Amino acid sequence: MTVSVAIIGTGPAGFYTADALIKKGVDCTIDLIDRLPTPYGLIRFGVAPDHQTTKKVSRAFEKTALSDACRFFGNVEVGRDVTLAELREMYDAVVLAVGAGHDRLAGIPGEDKKGVIGSATFVGWYNAHPDMRDLDPDLDTPSVVVIGNGNVAIDIARVLVKTREEMADSDLPEYATAAIEASPIKDVYMMGRRGPIEAKFTNVELREMGELKNAVPLVDPAQLPADVGDLDNLRDQRLKEKNLATLKEFTKFKPADAAKHVHFGFYAQPVEILGGDHVEGLRLEKTKVENGRAMGTGEFFEIECGLVIPAVGYRSLPVADVPFDEEKSVVVHDDGRVAPGLYAVGWVKRGPSGVISTNRPDGAKAAEHIAEDCGAGGKPGRTALSAHLEGRGVRIVTFEDWKKIESAEIAAAEGPAPRRKFETLTEILNVLGH
Ligand SMILES: Cc1cc2nc3c(=O)[nH]c(=O)nc-3n(C[C@H](O)[C@H](O)[C@H](O)COP(=O)(O)OP(=O)(O)OC[C@H]3O[C@@H](n4cnc5c(N)ncnc54)[C@H](O)[C@@H]3O)c2cc1C
Repeated sequence: MTVSVAIIGTGPAGFYTADALIKKGVDCTIDLIDRLPTPYGLIRFGVAPDHQTTKKVSRAFEKTALSDACRFFGNVEVGRDVTLAELREMYDAVVLAVGAGHDRLAGIPGEDKKGVIGSATFVGWYNAHPDMRDLDPDLDTPSVVVIGNGNVAIDIARVLVKTREEMADSDLPEYATAAIEASPIKDVYMMGRRGPIEAKFTNVELREMGELKNAVPLVDPAQLPADVGDLDNLRDQRLKEKNLATLKEFTKFKPADAAKHVHFGFYAQPVEILGGDHVEGLRLEKTKVENGRAMGTGEFFEIECGLVIPAVGYRSLPVADVPFDEEKSVVVHDDGRVAPGLYAVGWVKRGPSGVISTNRPDGAKAAEHIAEDCGAGGKPGRTALSAHLEGRGVRIVTFEDWKKIESAEIAAAEGPAPRRKFETLTEILNVLGH
């Protein structure tokens, strides 16, 4: 008998799980379900449009999707087209790989004002996520504050200051290219509550900020320590040393060097969004860092701006009938086991941190559990799901369909762009003749 496995979510965590099951030689069928007609989760809708090399990891996932055991069920939303309870009836094992694709805000007064846009929404907008395509953010402001000191904050700042020419070999959609090009944005402030040593940038992303055509990074030398001190972890120590060296190099830039500026601000926590209906500024409190924690100093200042983007992490939503840890925003699990025959991997298991490959061990662990728990299987899986969806009139997007969508996107690309992404579900389903 064959074990029937349903994986909900086709981002990295879902694909690493499928890959681990195959490599482990588990006799199984694997159905990869996604609410979108396109696979790869945040590789397509999170990773920056000008970081195409990073997106190439999806080629390895494609091989997994094309293996005999796997079937892609795109355009199938669990909770709408089929419930989790129904899937658990149909399959021996169900894996939650639904990620954490929702905004986490900074939790300060005024975040309901127009002009405050969470990073998940903003990043989704510039990556042509069908849910965010119509956001139409108001970029008619000379200055923007991005709250956060991680790679997502850097991605957002970079995309806002790069020129159309610099983006030509990216898959930034034309509506976003045009909106950014037309905007009067001159200053992007990236504000972190802790210091440069605690900032979570990777060095490649940080260095990139010193190589832009029309923008320079600005760093206040007074905020940079002489050295990083002694850290327990040697790898961490090297990364921090590199970052500090890069930030020290950035102090050579002056505002007059370029039309646009990315200000690296440290030791400042946001306390209130200012303005009437619309954002007019951000009030911050200066901090000092003690034992790695930021403490307010009671000294305040304000930055005038028309757009605030909190980039302080992403958030999972509770999954119906599954215990959820609201504080950590993850499903409750024991080393990846959620309930008999139900497992969790990736961001919905660990929270929104780490890079694509950080999700790989989750997949290996889930495959181990499934091999241990599910014996010879016996539940019908794929045939039951297909019949259920047919009965509901759901238009399943197969992997073959996805390849058609992908070919059409590549064919529509202009100049050095890798593809022109379809922006709406209707556009995508039209390509498939529906
Ligand atoms: C802005 C941003 C930039 C990043 N850049 C990089 C980078 O440059 N390099 C790097 O290594 N990492 C990067 N990462 C991290 C990387 O994207 C994540 O580690 C990874 O995507 C998490 O994988 P996941 O599978 O848990 O979730 P996701 O990738 O979010 O996948 C979840 C999938 O589940 C689907 N889904 C959700 N709910 C349902 C439902 N009810 N029914 C069916 N399907 C559902 C979603 O449509 C999605 O396809 C970035 C992350 C962000 C947010």
